Amino acid sequence: MSMAHTAKSIGANVFQFYTRNPRGSAAKDIDPQDAADFVACQRSGEIGPIVAHAPYTLNACSDDPSKRAFAKRTMADDLRRMEFVPHNFYNLHPGSHMGQGLETGVAQIAEMLSEVMKPEQTTTVLLETMAGKGREVGSRFEELKMIIERTALGERLGVCFDTCHTWDSGYDVVGSLEAVLEEFDRVLGLERLRVIHLNDSMNARTSHKDRHAVIGAGKLGEEAIVRIINHPNLRHLPFILETPNELEGYAREIACLRAQWHG
Ligand code: FE
Ligand code: FE
Ligand code: ZN
Repeated sequence: MSMAHTAKSIGANVFQFYTRNPRGSAAKDIDPQDAADFVACQRSGEIGPIVAHAPYTLNACSDDPSKRAFAKRTMADDLRRMEFVPHNFYNLHPGSHMGQGLETGVAQIAEMLSEVMKPEQTTTVLLETMAGKGREVGSRFEELKMIIERTALGERLGVCFDTCHTWDSGYDVVGSLEAVLEEFDRVLGLERLRVIHLNDSMNARTSHKDRHAVIGAGKLGEEAIVRIINHPNLRHLPFILETPNELEGYAREIACLRAQWHG
């Protein structure tokens, strides 16, 4: 799988990819040989867990029933395909309730997840912590908890913690990382925390903007990010950079962070 090659070429041992373009159009057929090669590569330990990201335009709690149906169809197809590379992650933005209200939004998201998650599935579905832009659901840990509680196989859901989003939502990951993680543990349980999206933020805390910055060039700053990657409850997790970079920039960030990681 060439994505694994690219990842290794920039010093990464985990990576994230979008399952299809933002319009959610048909994904390419899976080549079983490519999938088998990738599985072998993962078994050898060269590559750790990978994260498939659902198209960010999917909206499980749209006020338009045809858009909800589309989100469900797309997610079901993605999850079917993920089983070609078992035991990895599928990350989802919970959705935007479009003025229907949080309760309705949560109910619609949980309904979709209940229909597409199967007991035999090896892929772990992750709900991403959101910045709270517009009518986004999932910017508070409690909202993710509501989804988990109402989903049929909710005990199998994990959470992806995006450092830019949580900051933009109001959690002080710079000044009070310990308190934020305690709150996460109290509301969701730290065992649900499976992946970190490691991003700096262009905006002030509680801005609800969701504009990622390169590591050290935003309001979180390099020191806070180095504390995050070295926190005893986090340092073992897959860290995914979603910073505005080309490959060279990612290679530099990875090298810089590795040099400061005391794994
Ligand atoms: Fe995301
Ligand atoms: Fe993210
Ligand atoms: Zn974002």
